[in-house]
Amino acid sequence: MTIEERIRGRKIGVIGMARSGMAAARLAQALGGQPFVSDSGSETSLAKQIAELSAHDIPYETGAHSSRLLISDYLVVSPGVPLSAAVIQQAKAQGLPVFSELEFASWVCPGKIVAITGSNGKTTTTTLVGELLAAGKLDTHVCGNIGTPLADVVGRMNSNSVAVVEVSSFQLEAIDSFRPHVAVILNLTPDHVDRHGSFENYKQAKYRITENQRAADFFITNRDDAETVADHPGTRAKHICFSAGARRECGSWVETNALWTRRIEADERVIACDDIGIKGPHNLQNAAAAVTVAARFGLEPSIMQRVLRQFAGVEHRLEPVATVAGVSFINDSKATNVDSVYYALKSVPTPLYLICGGRDKNGVFEPLIEAGRGRIKGLIIIGEAREKLFEVLGKHFPAQFASSLEAAVEKGFELARPGETVLLSPGCASFDMFDNYEHRGRAFKAAVARLRNGKTTDESVSS
Ligand code: ADP
Repeated sequence: MTIEERIRGRKIGVIGMARSGMAAARLAQALGGQPFVSDSGSETSLAKQIAELSAHDIPYETGAHSSRLLISDYLVVSPGVPLSAAVIQQAKAQGLPVFSELEFASWVCPGKIVAITGSNGKTTTTTLVGELLAAGKLDTHVCGNIGTPLADVVGRMNSNSVAVVEVSSFQLEAIDSFRPHVAVILNLTPDHVDRHGSFENYKQAKYRITENQRAADFFITNRDDAETVADHPGTRAKHICFSAGARRECGSWVETNALWTRRIEADERVIACDDIGIKGPHNLQNAAAAVTVAARFGLEPSIMQRVLRQFAGVEHRLEPVATVAGVSFINDSKATNVDSVYYALKSVPTPLYLICGGRDKNGVFEPLIEAGRGRIKGLIIIGEAREKLFEVLGKHFPAQFASSLEAAVEKGFELARPGETVLLSPGCASFDMFDNYEHRGRAFKAAVARLRNGKTTDESVSS
């Protein structure tokens, strides 16, 4: 069956009116399909989406998923909708194929796909790869979980374009023929186990990124991560590792305090580690991964060097906010799991006060004891997870509770001496107190701005 036949004239049931569902519906319609969009949310909460669907004459339903979905030829699901949802189970029982928006959009992607997944570092690495390839004069489209869905960009691409896609395990759960030219797994740590049922299932979902790759493709994994196995038995692609250590067998590695890469047999020194704009051992891994991808597209090391020097990272990821009366404030609101807090602790060079807590995601906080030793001067704990955090970490570090993030910032400022840092790296989800992690990060920055405006004499702002 040709791609056109898979879409034109077909009844396509789209589940979910979030960004990727809407993008899938638009794409389906643009290619002559007959989308029908269903969302269990209320009409009022979906007013904007409804207005757009009505304007484009795309039929829809809200409030519940009806049997109308089940007369579709196949379903396209948003990553926010779990495959265990009753309507999807029913569709599967009837033999109806169920695809993710990533799978659906990839059918009509005219260029190459670089797909980046992992537990942590996806957005940072996807953004960095996008900047590297764009600097190499490739027609680059950064998309996926990071913001714009792939379904929204395929129409702007041609056969020379590259889509750099941030991919979640939820999107990978419902692929069929999705075949990235370059697939990257950055690392695997327990996250989203709640939705996948077990770490094993979560890992299996991530490894599906390589299942349709062929010999001309590349599968890139992290040599430093015990879970990202060195030789994945299932891949047909050329397998290349990256490392932030002295491992010359990898495609990119670190030696003599510099990042190196191998392009077409030759070893090339890319940049001194100290000159890389994004800091910390985890970001060195992200940089190594990004350089390994860029080398597959033949990018010159001098271009890589320029981009790595300038790239300052992404908002809410170890973002320097300001220095107030000699105390540095860092916003790492995107650290919603324990592993990212672990790396944040290893990345901040000064003694620090850690603001942590929020909604627990079954986090195992014990590794923070070792990572925090000699670094954490005090904990300021907020949110629903406070008792658990206090129980695990309170014996090892001076700890106190704060009733709000603002109060935590003020407390941190009170306690910290010049030259020290107040770090927001929550290790938990934000939904107990905020709409999302961006909201939490903005609230942190606003609280720091209030300190700057109120209480200080000597201040400088670093971003
Ligand atoms: P993702 O998109 O996978 O959530 P981000 O780039 O948004 O990743 O970073 C999320 C959090 O994880 C931030 O707190 C960041 O500092 C941290 N982080 C980034 N890269 C890594 C990595 N390679 N390993 C562990 N933590 C990381």
